[in-house]
Amino acid sequence: MKDSYGREINYLRVSVTDLCNLRCRYCMPEEGVCKKRHEDMMSEDEMILAVTAAASLGIRKVRITGGEPLVKKNILSICERSAAAEGIREVCLTTNGILLPQLARPLRRAGVRRLNISLDTLQPDKYAYLTRWGHLEEALAGLEAALSAGFEKIKINVVLIGGFNEDEIRPLAELTMQYPVDVRFIELMPMYDSGDFDEQAFIPDRKVLEALPELKSLDRNGGTARLFHLPGARGDIGLIRPVSDHFCSSCSRLRLTADGRLKPCLHAPEEYSIRGMDLEGMCQVMEMAIRSKPRWHGILSSENRSRAGRNMNQIGG
Ligand code: SAM
Ligand code: SF4
Repeated sequence: MKDSYGREINYLRVSVTDLCNLRCRYCMPEEGVCKKRHEDMMSEDEMILAVTAAASLGIRKVRITGGEPLVKKNILSICERSAAAEGIREVCLTTNGILLPQLARPLRRAGVRRLNISLDTLQPDKYAYLTRWGHLEEALAGLEAALSAGFEKIKINVVLIGGFNEDEIRPLAELTMQYPVDVRFIELMPMYDSGDFDEQAFIPDRKVLEALPELKSLDRNGGTARLFHLPGARGDIGLIRPVSDHFCSSCSRLRLTADGRLKPCLHAPEEYSIRGMDLEGMCQVMEMAIRSKPRWHGILSSENRSRAGRNMNQIGG
């Protein structure tokens, strides 16, 4: 279905939980979020009904996200049933990778085709600092498990953080030499609570081009990413600039939060609840949400923080 600016909306991001086994400083506060009551969250059947409703309106791709989707007990069943929904062509998932050693193969068998793994540093002490609770070797074991599980594509998401990982642009980019993966550098978005990271922490994606002068630009369409390639690499480098150059004019996304709210725009406060509705009700609200997608999310900066009204773990990125 098209929104009121003629954009084709064919991509649904489903956040299956707010909860996470890490506490990344740019994403959520250390104490987490006030744990919602079980009955306030969407059930698995509701999620699948929502995916079915979305597919009937032209959604073809579903990304499962969170919080950390792999902490959800029924994650395999959610993936499998989403992949089986009529009209859905692709189910992919975004994870911090910590639980992939146990879950990579079962996820692949459940029909997940592509995986995005978040990894912002290759230094153990910095990983522990950034994620507050994480151990780098666990994330790397997750990457190895994913590589051997036969996914069609693995992308590593790196959030660029000034004063934190700009000195690691080269080693992170060189993961594309070592492994058949794409590495995507994403600008830090000023969410409601971005922890210790304030205006000095934002660095534009051109820092990547400066650090890697040998990057070759590719003509291929990378969706929201501008694509590049290191000579001899097995995967591509993507630059995603939600802050310095938003990609709203080609936005194809609708988001569903774990508590059953449709968000037409990541950075706008508007939400539409689909809790407790039947298929027809969900379709109606989804159509309304798609029609109400704003033209763009407005300026994002340290003075103009996201108006999302939630932190990233409560939306799904
Ligand atoms: N837990 C999973 C993970 O970390 O991949 C999935 C959920 S996480 C909210 C989805 C993506 O959002 C991650 O790649 C994370 O790095 C990114 N993210 C979170 N907060 C962000 C921020 N303030 N700016 C840019 N990206 C952010
Ligand atoms: Fe958890 Fe992902 Fe947010 Fe990190 S970015 S705290 S792993 S939801």
